[in-house]
Amino acid sequence: MAMAHPPLSSFGMPPKFLIELDRLDPDVPFRASQSHIHHTWARTFHSRPELYLRPQSIAEIQKVITLARRMRRRVVTVGCSHSPSDLTCTSAWMVNLDDFGQVLSVDKARKTLTVQAGIRMHALNLAANEHGLTMPSLGSIDDQSIAGAIGTATHGSSMVHGLLSDSVKSLRIILGNGQAVKCSPTQSPDLFRAALTSLGALGIIAELEFQMVDASNIEWVQTILPIEDVLSRWDNDLWTSHEFVRVWWLPYMKRAIVWRADRTTKAHVKPAYNWYGGSVGYHTYHILLWISQYFPRVLPWVEKFVFGMQYGFTDGSTITGVEEQRTGLLMNCLYSQFVNEWSIPLAQGPEALMRLTKWLHGDEHGSGIPFSPNGLYVHSPIEVRVANTVGRTPKPYLDTSFADTPSLYLNATLYRPYNQDPPCRERYYQAFEHLMKEYNGRPHWAKNFQTVDHAYLSKAYGDDLSEFLRVRNEVDPEGMFLGAWHRRTILPPKTEMPAFPLEEKEVVRRQRRTGGVDWIGEQARWFDGGVDVFEKNGSESGESFDLMAGAEAEASLLLESLRDVDEEEELEQRIRENTEEFVTGTNVFNKM
Ligand SMILES: Cc1cc2nc3c(=O)[nH]c(=O)nc-3n(C[C@H](O)[C@H](O)[C@H](O)COP(=O)(O)OP(=O)(O)OC[C@H]3O[C@@H](n4cnc5c(N)ncnc54)[C@H](O)[C@@H]3O)c2cc1C
Repeated sequence: MAMAHPPLSSFGMPPKFLIELDRLDPDVPFRASQSHIHHTWARTFHSRPELYLRPQSIAEIQKVITLARRMRRRVVTVGCSHSPSDLTCTSAWMVNLDDFGQVLSVDKARKTLTVQAGIRMHALNLAANEHGLTMPSLGSIDDQSIAGAIGTATHGSSMVHGLLSDSVKSLRIILGNGQAVKCSPTQSPDLFRAALTSLGALGIIAELEFQMVDASNIEWVQTILPIEDVLSRWDNDLWTSHEFVRVWWLPYMKRAIVWRADRTTKAHVKPAYNWYGGSVGYHTYHILLWISQYFPRVLPWVEKFVFGMQYGFTDGSTITGVEEQRTGLLMNCLYSQFVNEWSIPLAQGPEALMRLTKWLHGDEHGSGIPFSPNGLYVHSPIEVRVANTVGRTPKPYLDTSFADTPSLYLNATLYRPYNQDPPCRERYYQAFEHLMKEYNGRPHWAKNFQTVDHAYLSKAYGDDLSEFLRVRNEVDPEGMFLGAWHRRTILPPKTEMPAFPLEEKEVVRRQRRTGGVDWIGEQARWFDGGVDVFEKNGSESGESFDLMAGAEAEASLLLESLRDVDEEEELEQRIRENTEEFVTGTNVFNKM
């Protein structure tokens, strides 16, 4: 039965809001709250949307969009906020589909599941498991919503698989005019290619049909090797010997951890017990990283100690296990972190990795990276993964993998011990991005890249970027789904493509005492004491900054509500059905 509206007068919205809401079907609930504080998984960005909306049906999603259009608001759809950048930050309206995540149908013959788009991948795999099916590939975690994961081109590591979105057979998206449109490789194929990696900029994806494979166990083997061994096998069988392969590159040790897995009929086998691998290792590593914030030159030693204790000080030390594919492909991501991941052609990998290694060892000249490495130490191994989409069609326009060569993904992770930013980040990421750009690299859309704009992406993506923008602008001419992140990255400067009427601009970001940043956009209600700023048609960024000056002077509602968390939050401990996955438990370091 339809629910009545919540007490809308308490929303403190402009009078026009209630008038517009009353014009819409009262039998379709409008589930909104105003107290939601949005933050990324790593707590690096926080924002407070004017309204947080949790629709439970397509009709409810359509109502949100219609009302947003009439109220001149931007709409951001958020999955589980796991994108590490400010991509999902907004002061406008935020839609979350956690209450819209049912399995709609299972086609056993075709091995597909049709689901509502808010379903988390963990739940999707559990539901599929009841029918003997599983997702063909996974990244490091399965917490993401399926729509959010495909939305940023999430990938795992395999020469047999590409992006997770390769398994989407068709989808239904609600556009800015409220229309629900189905698309697939044969039905509106341009819209389909744009929607497969849409960065939330097209509309709200409501349903997806996803291709599964037979559920199975995987047997994994993890070995620590000198980097010379890894490089010598690069063009032979390093990436092809098993269905799933990923590498952690340890620049100071000059060794790498190679993780390989294949599907198997073998029964579960737990990895050998290691007293250091659980809470002891977790906290020791965390404390050492924290000490290195003040004494960065200990970092090479930390790397040697931590990974030696866990994986052995001898080359060739091995850990193995057999578990379900849906959990076996996952890993522990440990602490809050920045991540900066790029894809480059696989063949360029050895050269790129060696240049970066030389640079980290202080050899600026030999590395050919024109930034000084003097006194710079980083505290993380580099995650090295592959994807192969050669010959696969249709590809998303914003596919981060290459059409004509297997792709190598290099992820420069930087932990933030106890939520503190590492001092090396600025220079390390400048150098890393410079290197990646030399190989025409493509940044992972969700992550913390810093020097990417439309000009660079046009070079890297060519016509595919223009095609994406053509489709996007056609289906969302008012820019209801655009924000400052999109303007900074994929959109041309305003001199070439003027601001869209509903595009949200960033106004200010503020460093938080306990780490991370508060992000505040132009559509924030507090700017002028609750007056609807959108009535001032076409307010541009200059005007925004004038408003900001006033806003900073007063104790703003929004800044108050974005107060820092006083206490370090307790580490989340998760126990899931049929798994033994603990963030601080015994299996922390089993798999990198
Ligand atoms: C610990 C951790 C591990 C990770 N591991 C990997 C990995 O192994 N491989 C990898 O490639 N990435 C990885 N990521 C990145 C992650 O997969 C992506 O950031 C993903 O987009 C997050 O999904 P989400 O549900 O949180 O989406 P969000 O971050 O909330 O949103 C992502 C994008 O999708 C859009 N969106 C969400 N739902 C919809 C919808 N219904 N309709 C339209 N647009 C929508 C949003 O607007 C946004 O643009 C990891 C991130 C973390 C924090």
